[in-house]
Amino acid sequence: MTVSEGTRLLIVGPQGSGKGTQGVRIAQAFGVPAISTGDVFRAAVAAGSELGNQVKAIIEGGDLVSDELTSAVVRDRLSQPDAQGGFLLDGYPRNINQVSHLDEFLEGRDESLDAVIELTVPRDESIARLSLRAKEQGRTDDTEAVIANRLAIYERETAPILGVYRARGIVDAVDGVGSLDEIAARIVAALEARGLGRSAAA
Ligand code: ADP
Repeated sequence: MTVSEGTRLLIVGPQGSGKGTQGVRIAQAFGVPAISTGDVFRAAVAAGSELGNQVKAIIEGGDLVSDELTSAVVRDRLSQPDAQGGFLLDGYPRNINQVSHLDEFLEGRDESLDAVIELTVPRDESIARLSLRAKEQGRTDDTEAVIANRLAIYERETAPILGVYRARGIVDAVDGVGSLDEIAARIVAALEARGLGRSAAA
């Protein structure tokens, strides 16, 4: 066996922590789809779909989409065939209420998260990276005021979900400063130390 079957992961970190980039890499390494709610919403906006029209103004202001709508979107995505053998969630759950929604959904499938990767990055570094991304990609939610709003929401609403998962013993805190390769290697090492991942064959 080269890749563990059925690995269910969540990556959490402040905006600018690089969780999107690392999430995609780790998902590839584990052979599971990376599911980013931010990407799903941005794609919907770009496509001008009904979902996109519902969330456009909210995303552009850096506010959160309602828990009901977000959870419905995630349930739908997790019900697709490619997510039956595991997945990596990025950007969801983002508050305690969404944790309950996800728990309920996974329990109904007799599943649970195997590990939560907490990517830690100092606030100054996050802000510097976001400002750079704003210049490079022109994301409409990367202006200074909107960045400040998103970071405040992260600290107030998202950071507390880590306490819930810590109490379950499934959080691995990983230093998010370094090269992309170094950080990916740290994450893989943390997951392997839990018996997840690629070293199972040996
Ligand atoms: P970032 O983490 O840099 O804010 P994301 O790509 O994760 O960017 O999300 C972009 C936007 O999509 C958020 O600001 C929010 O409006 C919306 N969004 C993403 N995930 C969620 C979620 N779980 N609940 C509510 N809104 C969300």
